[in-house]
Amino acid sequence: MKTPNALNQPVGILTGIGAQTANRLQKLGLCTLQDLIFHLPLRYEDRTRVYPICSLKPGMSVLISGKVEFTDILPRGRKSLICRISDGTGFISLKFFHFSASQHNALKPGTSISCFAEVRYGFAGLEMVHPEYKVIANPDGCITETRLTPVYPLTEGLGQNIIRKAVRQALDLCRQDPELLTDWIPESILKQYHYPSLADAIQTLHAPDESVSIEALQNGSVPALKRLAFEELLTHFLILRTTRNKTKAWQAPSFSVGAAGKTATNHFIRSLPFKLTGAQQRVIAEIEADCRLQHPMMRLVQGDVGSGKTVVSAYAALLALTAGYQVAVMAPTELLAEQHKRNFSIWFEGFQTQVVYLTGQLKGNARKTVLQALEDGTAGIIIGTHALFQDSVHFHRLGLIIIDEQHRFGVHQRLALREKGQQGNIRPHQLVMTATPIPRTLAMLQYSDLDISIIDELPPGRKPIVTSVIPAERRADVIDRINGWVGKNRQVYWVCTLIEESEVLQCEAAEKTAETLTEALPNVRVALIHGRMKSAEKDAVMQDFKNHRIDLLVATTVIEVGVDVPNAGLMIIENPERLGLSQLHQLRGRVGRGGDDSYCLLMYQAPLSDTARHRLGVLRDSNDGFVIAEKDLELRGPGEVMGTRQTGQMHFKIADLARDADLLDTVQQIGDSFFTHSPQAIQPLCDRWLGAPTEYSEV
Ligand code: ADP
Ligand code: MG
Repeated sequence: MKTPNALNQPVGILTGIGAQTANRLQKLGLCTLQDLIFHLPLRYEDRTRVYPICSLKPGMSVLISGKVEFTDILPRGRKSLICRISDGTGFISLKFFHFSASQHNALKPGTSISCFAEVRYGFAGLEMVHPEYKVIANPDGCITETRLTPVYPLTEGLGQNIIRKAVRQALDLCRQDPELLTDWIPESILKQYHYPSLADAIQTLHAPDESVSIEALQNGSVPALKRLAFEELLTHFLILRTTRNKTKAWQAPSFSVGAAGKTATNHFIRSLPFKLTGAQQRVIAEIEADCRLQHPMMRLVQGDVGSGKTVVSAYAALLALTAGYQVAVMAPTELLAEQHKRNFSIWFEGFQTQVVYLTGQLKGNARKTVLQALEDGTAGIIIGTHALFQDSVHFHRLGLIIIDEQHRFGVHQRLALREKGQQGNIRPHQLVMTATPIPRTLAMLQYSDLDISIIDELPPGRKPIVTSVIPAERRADVIDRINGWVGKNRQVYWVCTLIEESEVLQCEAAEKTAETLTEALPNVRVALIHGRMKSAEKDAVMQDFKNHRIDLLVATTVIEVGVDVPNAGLMIIENPERLGLSQLHQLRGRVGRGGDDSYCLLMYQAPLSDTARHRLGVLRDSNDGFVIAEKDLELRGPGEVMGTRQTGQMHFKIADLARDADLLDTVQQIGDSFFTHSPQAIQPLCDRWLGAPTEYSEV
């Protein structure tokens, strides 16, 4: 039951907000009084004290007052009005490019005025350009404010004063009725973390008094802001956790392995050409335990490139198959989907089931056959791209969804997929895998709807990839090195990175590189693979590379995820400075898959910025995806690390993951206790921070 909250009223009810202004506010996403209240200032101006002119430095935005010494119109260059004022400690010039005759008249010598603006270096010493100013009775008559002045993000046609006045009215309302801003964070927590109450935090941020330092406000370290960021992050955590808890209440098929199943799993493990690592066995056990329950598994397997996630997922698939259910395996690229198709086909050769393959490219009868096999259940495993989740795809008895390289898909896609295999109130298990190791605290937030397993061990015998950072001028040496390498019967990747985000240009660049390398290396079999090739062509090239009919594969970043050719032990990445560290680490993970030495040459275009040099150095010095992710987080911020740039997930109104990363541990601890101690707070918090029911709470 909800009581109507006055803060849900439209901004139009405020004095001074007509239809047009309301429209403009709406452009900023400000529709209700509540929106206004959570629309925080970008920065603040200090009009709480008057600065002596002698203390001014360029860059300061300050209030000053003084007497006009002279006013002149300068015809030189652009016509301007110059007015020099002095307060006895020094003088400064005011400069106006637009001015009226009456303005000119009002600034007569001897007049006292107060002004506010940023101080700059001008032609004749310090100056203020177009300051706000007021004529006052005498130099001591300058009116100071008791609070810092907020400066809000604006949109065209909207002035600071309009929005300030509107916010002030909304704040007044909250002061009159403290019930409006219910504080859902328990007092004990506020005390423990020295957070102000919600109402105080809001008042402080919109109208900070002299007790608040302007620096702390600007750099985001004031408790008031931390508290709001905390509440917002907590809410996101709670939403995802709620999703997880709801999921756990659904029914799912139980894959309890009977005697026949046991034989199958034993056979599967025995027939693998390697022994599973301890980490793989542990994660497999975690998955097996999940699937035995009659509630859907929601598990994320995190493991560095090459840690052997695929075979773990195949084991999960086997559990589903032996229990009589179908499995859908979704990969972000066709290349990767094709590779999984090959691996799964080999691993499941002896089983009485079909492994089928579906992408957007598959058309006509071939497509019909696949869809039919899925619908009647003759196909036990379907592997494909996101085409798997189109409306035309119907499963006979889907029991498990496996999503590879999940960071390439958004959180929304992930949630949407779950609906797909629903039959009655039974929903499939879900296993998602990612090779982008993200720092633990971020994972807690982003994946709080999932249980997390980590494969923290590489298969034995892998040697670290030796990475060097070299300038493009040494291209000739690099080409020499390829000759020697191929002479030893080994294979090479040459990766052309993204050019201005354009796939077409990227492919052209790769084509050119392939041509020049073919010329430069007459004894080397060169081939090209890029995103604009048909999937059959790509498949053929990849197959040739795998079978060593090709020595040097020139590629765009399409090979980034998952592709596996153990004999390729040398990778050259051109212009690595264009890519994120985690992405480079993934690319590099294509080599070092066998037991031999492997190398990665990062061939940059000089000059390198300091940050770029630093970043490439991180990659040279570490082979550990988690370490690299932490550094990437430090150097570039969480959006890049989590791949949110591609998927557009995790938008915050106030929190900033880079600035507020220190809150995440607390968010998790408190968040978990919320379900027992403050369950009634969860829905109102969601309403506050996400507005109307969201995809999350709908699930
Ligand atoms: P990723 O975790 O990056 O998806 P893959 O599943 O593609 O890694 O595995 C990388 C390579 O390691 C594959 O060739 C796979 O067959 C092999 N592999 C997986 N597990 C083991 C293991 N326990 N011992 C040796 N090789 C393994
Ligand atoms: Mg993989």
